[in-house]
Amino acid sequence: MLPDLQMKDQLRLRKPHPCGSYEWTVIRLGADIGLECNGCKHKVMLTRRELMKRMKTNLSQKERENMNVPQVSEKDID
Ligand SMILES: [Zn+2]
Repeated sequence: MLPDLQMKDQLRLRKPHPCGSYEWTVIRLGADIGLECNGCKHKVMLTRRELMKRMKTNLSQKERENMNVPQVSEKDID
């Protein structure tokens, strides 16, 4: 199961960056995922598999689920 990621998502990782921040922003989506540290703005690229291992929570996904708004996919649009 791949993580449900969108641009600008706020992710909390299991281990802190050397700057002390646990939270990162998604800045690139593709075969690899680009993240920017919210603490020091350092950028990294991770494979989805690597990110799955390191990610603790997708804070933005949680917000989306809490809003409970069903996502409209293209095939549902007439
Ligand atoms: Zn950092």
